[in-house]
Amino acid sequence: MTVTRRGALPDGPGPGAAYDVTVVGAGVVGCAIARELARYSLRVALVEASGDVGEGSSKANTAILHTGFDAVPGSLEARLVREGGRLLAAYARETGIPVEPVGALLVAWDEEQLAALPRLAAKAERNGHHGTRPVGAAELRTLEPHLGPGALGALAVPDESVVCPWTTPLAYATQAVRSGVDLHLDCPVEKVRPGGPGTPHRLITRRGVLRTRYLVNACGLYADAFDALVGRYDFTVTPRRGQLLVFDKLARGLVRHILLPVPGVLGKGVLVAPTVYGNVLLGPTAEDLDDKTATGSTAEGLAALRAQGGRILPALLDEEVTAVYAGLRAATGAEDYRIAAHPGLRYVTVGGIRSTGLTASLALGRHTVGLLADAGLELGPERPLAPVTMPNLGEAFPRPYRDAARIARDPAYGEIVCHCERVTRGEIRDALASTVPPASLDGLRRRTRARGGRCQGFSCGAAVRVLFEEGTR
Ligand SMILES: Cc1cc2nc3c(=O)[nH]c(=O)nc-3n(C[C@H](O)[C@H](O)[C@H](O)COP(=O)(O)OP(=O)(O)OC[C@H]3O[C@@H](n4cnc5c(N)ncnc54)[C@H](O)[C@@H]3O)c2cc1C
Repeated sequence: MTVTRRGALPDGPGPGAAYDVTVVGAGVVGCAIARELARYSLRVALVEASGDVGEGSSKANTAILHTGFDAVPGSLEARLVREGGRLLAAYARETGIPVEPVGALLVAWDEEQLAALPRLAAKAERNGHHGTRPVGAAELRTLEPHLGPGALGALAVPDESVVCPWTTPLAYATQAVRSGVDLHLDCPVEKVRPGGPGTPHRLITRRGVLRTRYLVNACGLYADAFDALVGRYDFTVTPRRGQLLVFDKLARGLVRHILLPVPGVLGKGVLVAPTVYGNVLLGPTAEDLDDKTATGSTAEGLAALRAQGGRILPALLDEEVTAVYAGLRAATGAEDYRIAAHPGLRYVTVGGIRSTGLTASLALGRHTVGLLADAGLELGPERPLAPVTMPNLGEAFPRPYRDAARIARDPAYGEIVCHCERVTRGEIRDALASTVPPASLDGLRRRTRARGGRCQGFSCGAAVRVLFEEGTR
C-alpha cells in the first residue's frame, strides 16, 4: 500500500517503468476514478496537489445524495447522477458511509412556483424518477410543522438523501490504495510533456517527474488550467461560491426533510437540510467570482441566507450557529459536465462537475474508465477490490461511545475526547493509523468529527492536538 506525502516520487512503479494511468486530482471524482481503475491489473497513480484527499470542492458542499429528478433530461449529468445516486446508496450500505434517506420537499412560496411544480414532476418522470407526488398546503404543514407561513404546497421527492461528504472520497481512496493504487499527496502537477506514440507522458511535479501512458484530468476548479498544460482550451471554469450556515444539533428537531426551493437560473437555490451529523444546514448562496481560492464567507452572504432561512423555517434563526463555510462549484457556462476523451493524446478531461459530483462520483468513475478503454487502454480481466469498512460518523447509526461491548474489548472507545461530537480516543487513534491518514487537524475532523461541534475545538482542541502530534510523529 503506497501513500506518499514527501520526498522524490518513485520513478514509476518499477525501475524505468511508467504508470499505465495517472489520475490528477484527488477530490471525490478523482478518487472514484482511481477506485474504478483499481479493479484491473493496471499500474495506477492518483496525484493530488494538497496534503489530503477531498480537500477541494469535495469537502464543502451541501451533502445531498440526489436522485437527479431535476437534471436536464437527456444530459450526461442526468444519466450519471441517476446511476451514481443508486451506486453510492448501495456502496454506502456496503462500506458504512452514513446516508439518511430523509426525502425532499420542493416547497412553493408563491403562485408562480406552485404552477411550476407539475412541470418539475414531469421533468422528474423524464429523468426516470417516478416517485414524486404533489403535497397540499395542509399536508405540508403536518409533514413540516415548523415551516414558515405562506407555503402554498410542495412536490415530495422521496429517495433524496443526506450523505457524509467526507467519508465518501476517503472510502474511495482507501479502497483504491488497498487495491494497489499509488496515492501521491502534496504533489502538484506543474507541467506536462505529452508523450508520443509509444512514449509516455511526463508529468513535472513539485516532487519530481512521473511518467504515465494515460492521463486523467480530475482537477475540479483547475480542470481548465490542467487542460492548458496539454494544449487544450475547451472551456473556462468560473468558480461559483456557495456559502452555508451550520446550525447546532438542537435545531435538528425543526426539520424532517430536505426543504428545497423551486430551482432558479443560478442553480438549485437555498435549502434547509439535516446533516448526517445531526445538525441543520442552510445554504448555499450562488455567487460567480474570479478567484478560485475565495472560500471565505461574507457578512452579506450570511445575512441573505438568514433572511431566506427565516422565511423557510423561522425558528431556525433562534438556534445557535455552529459553523459557517463556503465551497466553490466548477461552473463552465454549460448545463452539463465537460467530459472529453482525446484518444490521440491518451488523455481524458473530467471537468465541469458543478453541483452534483458527490452524487455522480461512482458513475463518473465507471464512465471515465469506459472512455479510457475506448481510447485504447487495455483493461484486462476484472478482479475484486479490497474490502473497506469506514468508521461511522453518522448520528443515525451506532457510534463507538455507545457500544458497551466494543468499549469492554478496547477501553479507548469509552474515553471521550471531543465532548460536543462525542469522539473517542479510540476513533482518533484509528484515524491516525488508517490507510490514508490525516495530514492536519482539519483532516482529522473530517475523519472523526473531532473539533467539529458547537465549541469548535475550544474545549478539546489541545487534547486533540496532542493525540494528533503523538500519532503523526
Ligand atoms: C456549495 C456546494 C454545494 C454542493 N452540493 C452538492 C450536493 O449536495 N450534492 C452533490 O452531489 N454535489 C454537490 N456539490 C458538488 C460537489 O461538491 C462537486 O461536484 C465535487 O466535489 C467535485 O469534485 P472534484 O473531485 O471534481 O473536485 P475537487 O474536490 O475540487 O477536487 C479536485 C482536486 O484536484 C486537485 N488539483 C487541481 N489541480 C491540480 C494539479 N495541477 N495537480 C494536482 N492536483 C490538482 C485539487 O487540489 C483538488 O483536490 C456541491 C458543491 C458546492 C461547492
